Amino acid sequence: MNLSRLYELQLRELELKVVDGKINKLESDDLLYRLKQEYSDLKNQYLLLKESISEEKKQGENKKKNIRQLEENKSNYEKLKYSAEINNAKKLKMIEKQIVDVENNIKSEIKKIDALTNKIKKTNIEMIDVKKKLAFIKNKFEKTKNERTDELERLAKEKIEIKKLTEEIKKSIDENSLSEYTKQKRWFNDPISLIVSRKCTGCSVGIPSIDYEAVRDGDVLKCESCGRFLLYKKKSD
Ligand SMILES: [Zn+2]
Repeated sequence: MNLSRLYELQLRELELKVVDGKINKLESDDLLYRLKQEYSDLKNQYLLLKESISEEKKQGENKKKNIRQLEENKSNYEKLKYSAEINNAKKLKMIEKQIVDVENNIKSEIKKIDALTNKIKKTNIEMIDVKKKLAFIKNKFEKTKNERTDELERLAKEKIEIKKLTEEIKKSIDENSLSEYTKQKRWFNDPISLIVSRKCTGCSVGIPSIDYEAVRDGDVLKCESCGRFLLYKKKSD
């Protein structure tokens, strides 16, 4: 069995697994979806604020119209006050009361307009804030999307490279070794285990001296503890 070549194959296959894992993680990450959602929520918020401003402006216009009407009423009352029609104290008192009432109504409408103006100012500030957030999210979305596309492209290339190497290695290994390796792959991701410091790197259990010597001399043995093939790598390898 050509354990050394099989070990190379195993390394490439493990690399491929890591790359596949990264691709899956990127593809299943829902950050883009969440950003999209956040953007659409903010957009709705923006539209609502815009709507409320236009509603408030409309209300303001109506109040102004009311005031114009009230001013007109007031001036009519004033004209009436000095007309021949007001010919006794009772009528005068009545007309004066009407003038005071209309003045109070005007004041109250002006107050309401001021309140509306303040409200519009506040809403405008809020809109600017939401607009900033929208720009930020849009930017982040584009950046994330581009980064992700680049990363996926890079990973796809890496995958092709590794697969090519894998195929080349496979060609250089005899069929029996390959089929034995494939069989072991059912149990382990890494059926071939390096011996480092006289231990199996697969399970970290020490190798008995006799096995260690045998593997070092080129025998094919499995780890007594985990069952992986043991590979001794000379320093020069
Ligand atoms: Zn082991």
